[in-house]
Amino acid sequence: MSRAEADIPVATAFSAQALRAQFPALDQQVNGKPLAYLDNAATTQKPRAVIDRISDYYARDNANVHRAIHELSRRATEAYEGARDTLARFIGAGRREEIVFTRGTTDAINLVAQGYLAPRLKAGDEIVVSEIEHHSNIVPWQMLCESHGAILRVAPVDDRGVLDLAALQRLIGPRTVMVAVGQVSNALGTVHPVQQIIDMAHAADVPVLVDGAQSVSHLPVDVSTLNADFFCFSAHKMFGPTGTGVLYGREALLDSMSPVQGGGDMIETVSFQGSTWNSLPYKFEAGTPNIAGVIGMGAATEFLEGLDLEAVYRHEHALAERAEAGMRAIPGLRIIGEAPGKTGIISFVMQTAHAQDVGTILDQMGVATRTGHHCAMPAMARFGVPATTRASFACYNTEADVDALLAGLDKVSSLLG
Ligand code: PLP
Repeated sequence: MSRAEADIPVATAFSAQALRAQFPALDQQVNGKPLAYLDNAATTQKPRAVIDRISDYYARDNANVHRAIHELSRRATEAYEGARDTLARFIGAGRREEIVFTRGTTDAINLVAQGYLAPRLKAGDEIVVSEIEHHSNIVPWQMLCESHGAILRVAPVDDRGVLDLAALQRLIGPRTVMVAVGQVSNALGTVHPVQQIIDMAHAADVPVLVDGAQSVSHLPVDVSTLNADFFCFSAHKMFGPTGTGVLYGREALLDSMSPVQGGGDMIETVSFQGSTWNSLPYKFEAGTPNIAGVIGMGAATEFLEGLDLEAVYRHEHALAERAEAGMRAIPGLRIIGEAPGKTGIISFVMQTAHAQDVGTILDQMGVATRTGHHCAMPAMARFGVPATTRASFACYNTEADVDALLAGLDKVSSLLG
């Protein structure tokens, strides 16, 4: 049996095939082959509804928000603030004021680092992260540690990429001021048990930031049930546009935070004697925001609300299992990260081929993957590899995409094996 025909059924009623029709970019040939887009952890494709919403805004409603009373500004403000309501509903936030629009996950984490932690941080305080975080959930904390004499503590993962919860528990002590973890690892697909982590940290009175960049479009999230203190994500990884995202923060915490950027819209009054801040969430949204981006993110969120995210998770997981079953038969291929229940992310290395060459040959076969360290160099170091090739699935991927990946890997083996 050819690996491309690995007989692993994707047992779900979820119709990825039907969804594909909504994504124009998926319907194209790349290098003479039908595109198999498997770079969704880097960024997802956009459905027609998102593209149209952004284009309609620019075609009909374009105006600045909040500061004018004319009709176009009213429409722009309504759409922009409407997106905030949609986002609050989608992640189960108690109040719309808890949704701060940012440029993305990176921007949101930096806002918490600078606005929440920096003013409170003392020398010797400790921030705890996991060993497999994205750089944007490491470097902002590292910078704070350097400027304040604080210490970054790192919870390890085992050889499958599963977080060592007992070690994490031991790291949370009287000097811990923040635990920051991704819900899903972009490098390995590991789903961290964030509910347990939050409960554990809260028992010690420590706030938790959850990086949801790789979770919100792949599994159901409810920040109120989780009792997360901060939760961050990016629109472009959930079928929305680049350059926009969300910081969810519990109202009391956001209230206690200082603004990080000063400028228009974030103030209540300004005089040369001093300025006072606008109410939540506006005190964190200085300047003209990415209006079209936020409106597009709202449309992407409505798209996601139309999906059963439990079924999406099962679908993507099943695709990954089908792919991994085929990949295990390829001599010299090693899968990096085999946490039970992981999402549709597969990182792998091949003994005979550099990740870059694997990605290049796959591209020639119309298969889009990502190669490199995936902005997770410590995760690469943990597994002793400089780089991997990563295939990552979204709701619109099908068994045909898996088969294209496996056929591409057969080609790599025949050329470089
Ligand atoms: N966190 C995780 C887990 C990610 O996968 C990414 C992007 O790859 C980020 C944070 C950063 O997201 P952005 O570049 O959209 O700010």
